[in-house]
Amino acid sequence: MRTSPSETVGSDISGTAEAAAARPAPGRTRTRESGTRPAETRLGLVRRARRMNRLLARAFPDAHCELDFGNPLELAVATILSAQCTDVRVNMTTPALFAAYPDARAYAEANRAELEELIRPTGFYRNKTNSLIGLGQALLEHYDGELPHTMAELVRLPGIGRKTANVILGNAFGIPGITVDTHFGRLVRRWGWTTEEDPVKVEHAIGALIERKEWTMLSHRVIFHGRRVCHARKPACGVCLLAKDCPSFGAGPTDPETAAALVKGPEAPHLLELVGR
Ligand code: SF4
Repeated sequence: MRTSPSETVGSDISGTAEAAAARPAPGRTRTRESGTRPAETRLGLVRRARRMNRLLARAFPDAHCELDFGNPLELAVATILSAQCTDVRVNMTTPALFAAYPDARAYAEANRAELEELIRPTGFYRNKTNSLIGLGQALLEHYDGELPHTMAELVRLPGIGRKTANVILGNAFGIPGITVDTHFGRLVRRWGWTTEEDPVKVEHAIGALIERKEWTMLSHRVIFHGRRVCHARKPACGVCLLAKDCPSFGAGPTDPETAAALVKGPEAPHLLELVGR
């Protein structure tokens, strides 16, 4: 169900959110109490999304990029390696890699077989080797071996798409960016923040809801929540801090004891304490 744009204008929402408020919101149609829920206005959606972001900030005060890196190039390399691979495995691989390949020139002049062997545990190692060598060569040729600071320049580099560029901008250069990975897309659709499937459209839709200065930390928090609580198959709804604001409450077990057993990660005691467990 969608609302009419004429229902949606609010005066306390500024900047991009205000402009976006003229557009209709993805509807929310179910509720735990009655099975139906009144259509949500655009203003209501903006407020709910920002409230959920604040709750996530309480849940994950230490949310961060889970890839280990010491400089922008290392983050770019680690992000390229993280495609179809867990951050944990990437972090096991990168110490030896970063020691052997300290700068762009080292990648540009790499012995392909040696580089392949080093990154083999991360999977798709032939393609990733192509990206790393190409990245080193492009950085040497166009940027004196340094990573550029803009989205337009980053996405022209081998192996770097929009998602990787946003990770680099947000975490290496302090420029706000929304990282739409598989967790982020799943959760924001579950929350009715957007109905878009295409990652770039998701990025723009969420950027219109949430304050720009929050984008990088929002990305970390949502990804943390997706990895620890709101799992793809069995989300821990019964102990979820966002339950009151989530139209998908009930997608996973609502019994608190069953749900508590599904919460993962070192934050589990803190997360359970927040919901009174
Ligand atoms: S209530 Fe359930 S579906 Fe909604 S965010 Fe929490 S765990 Fe995910």
